[in-house]
Amino acid sequence: MSASIDQVPTIALRDDGQIPQLGFGVFQIPPADTVEATTVALQAGYRHIDTAAAYRNEAEVGQAIHASGLDRGDVFVTTKCFNDHHGYEQAKHACKESLDRLETGYIDLYLIHWPVPSQDKFVDTWKAFVELQQEGLVRSIGVSNFQPAHLHRIIEETGVTPSVNQIELHPRFQQAGLRREHEDLGIVTEAWSPLAQGAVLDDPEITDIAKAHDKTPGQVVLRWHVQLGNVVFPKSVTPERIEENFDLFDFHLTEEEMGRIEALDAGDRTGPDPDTFVRP
Ligand code: NDP
Repeated sequence: MSASIDQVPTIALRDDGQIPQLGFGVFQIPPADTVEATTVALQAGYRHIDTAAAYRNEAEVGQAIHASGLDRGDVFVTTKCFNDHHGYEQAKHACKESLDRLETGYIDLYLIHWPVPSQDKFVDTWKAFVELQQEGLVRSIGVSNFQPAHLHRIIEETGVTPSVNQIELHPRFQQAGLRREHEDLGIVTEAWSPLAQGAVLDDPEITDIAKAHDKTPGQVVLRWHVQLGNVVFPKSVTPERIEENFDLFDFHLTEEEMGRIEALDAGDRTGPDPDTFVRP
């Protein structure tokens, strides 16, 4: 059975937005392939696209949305302000540049991509985000790769809590402590690299659970995220996988199966450490 759009749950954001829990990520999709991949995703039913200025494919994401003929209000678009645009003026400028590339009129969710603590500018960046939201250029504002200390700092210094924190999260790196912190603060958890870029899919526990449900390992891992309450946006350039990753709503993992996946946590970060990552 293939999934339909109305099966995807939406999650309420603290600043009144509603985000589809399942989206499509375009990190590492070359610009030349992005229109096609995003078009396949929109045709499969995805209505949430996660891009970033640093991915250099915002323009192509925008082109695919325009060519789809869908109403602007029916597609949720996230993009991110990169490390070279921290600071009040720079962040405002970065947002306008992203909007020029996307040509979507507004951004549904705008994120600070990394805190870059060594620059110590993320509070000023966040102040710009608050204004961008007030100006209506951005509907919801959030952060990515923020550790608890970074979250507390922006909240204490501005009084504004981010609606989401987008963090590395998959069965090998489950971030239970940070997820609890999000829950306490009313922040939605978004899971990046939800499939650990494919590295968890041959785990015997996951393949075994997949067999029991007549599903693929990718579907089991994504279903685990959905049942935990995470927002996910798997990336793929393979049309069959794009469709497969959307087809998550006709089965349910038992508590015992959720526990078996929870036991796979190895504290293995695959991406950079947010406390030290400064690129570019
Ligand atoms: P994912 O965990 O989504 O894995 C993508 C990889 O898994 C690709 O190699 C893809 O191959 C493969 N794959 C996808 N679906 C399946 C499947 N069903 N079965 C087997 N293999 C599969 O990795 P990403 O790092 O791309 O993370 C997803 C999104 O998260 C990004 O696109 C981006 O939007 C966001 N992100 C955000 C970051 C941040 O700092 N905020 C950092 C990293 C990611 P193929 O394409 O060849 O089909």
